[in-house]
Amino acid sequence: AYLALKEVLLILASVTIYPYIMNNKSTKHTKVLILGSGPAGYTAAIYAARAMLKPILVHGSQPGGQLTTTTDVENYPGYSKVIQGPWLMDEMKGQAEAVGTVMIQDHINKVDLSKKPFEAVGDSGQIYTADSFIISTGAQARWLNIKSEQEFRGYGVSACATCDGFFFKDKEVAVVGGGNAAVEEAMFLTKFASKVKLIHRRNELRAEKMLQEKLKANNKIEIIWDSVVDEVLGDSEPKGVNGIKIKNVKSNKITELKVHGLFIAIGHDPATSLFKDQLKMDKEGYLITKPDSTETNVPGVFAAGDVKDKIFRQAVTAAGMGCMSALEAEKFISKSN
Ligand code: FAD
Ligand code: NAP
Repeated sequence: AYLALKEVLLILASVTIYPYIMNNKSTKHTKVLILGSGPAGYTAAIYAARAMLKPILVHGSQPGGQLTTTTDVENYPGYSKVIQGPWLMDEMKGQAEAVGTVMIQDHINKVDLSKKPFEAVGDSGQIYTADSFIISTGAQARWLNIKSEQEFRGYGVSACATCDGFFFKDKEVAVVGGGNAAVEEAMFLTKFASKVKLIHRRNELRAEKMLQEKLKANNKIEIIWDSVVDEVLGDSEPKGVNGIKIKNVKSNKITELKVHGLFIAIGHDPATSLFKDQLKMDKEGYLITKPDSTETNVPGVFAAGDVKDKIFRQAVTAAGMGCMSALEAEKFISKSN
């Protein structure tokens, strides 16, 4: 009976006190709230903290951002030897913390930019208010979502030719997609690869005509029309791609291609659904900022990195925009005081 009473009391406590605690977390206020922990967010944090703004940075569900999903990084300045993506992000985090950033493990699920101060709510139930927001929630590459593609991601399957093209010197590679990005990636890859096969699901490219002309004039590129990737083939030891099976969507015929790299270039999705109807975006959902600035259409709300950039999508450009956003936030706050 004693145990039963204890259990009943514990259950009662958990259904009454726990929600009370969760719903009554005191609001955290900051001058600068940074959403996202990729290169843009951490760099914004370093600059904002060094400007004595005591920023709060909310990590999101991918602490460290996209670079934590890769291995070798060879183009981030300052390192003459190859560095690892997760290591670089740990270093950025350490630097941001060392200068006074408050790091919080949470994911923002709601924002209200019509209020002053601006308000955000995390999955934890925590409410954050801030005089300025830096949005650095990044973007995610779209994938074909076939099992073997996911298995070889980072081992020959990539969504970034600028990042990984160098690893395919004198090898044959394939690119999937028919838009500007796929055409540019295919042409870029010809600098390294011996042959590039562009696989497109229709018989006409979506890319601009001028780019198409350049593509067709490049004798290292072969276009494979009306085809989709059916399976990625590879070795397990050492792990790596050694071919793909493609299916002709008209004849259903399956063909095997010997390639060592597969680049998926079928678009990206910026993480901006939170800001729908509150911030100006282009038709693909990228946040729009003023020219030569990271300021959005709402004064005091800044956007940095892949969340506003569909052209460059590099760690160094994201970091550069993170720096700009913190400097602009500092100016905004000092003007408002
Ligand atoms: P991201 O790195 O995308 O980070 C976004 C952050 O926002 C994440 O921390 C996420 O958790 C957070 N977030 C999202 N939504 C929310 C929310 N609602 N609330 C709170 N937080 C949120 N670039 C290079 O320069 N060199 C390379 O070698 C290179 N290799 C790459 C390899 C791979 C496999 C990939 C995918 C990308 C690579 N890139 C490389 C590109 C580079 O990673 C990106 O350009 C860069 O990470 C963009 O930085 P970002 O800060 O804008 O956003
Ligand atoms: P995009 O223009 O949307 O093209 C995506 C391509 O991928 C399309 O050809 C599409 O095929 C194909 N695709 C989509 N899902 C697929 C799937 N599941 N399987 C196979 N193929 C699939 O995307 P993007 O090329 O990344 O460009 C995005 C934006 O950035 C565009 O506005 C583009 O103009 C811009 N951009 C501009 C430049 C430049 O100006 N130099 C460079 C890069 C990007 P369908 O054609 O059949 O739909």
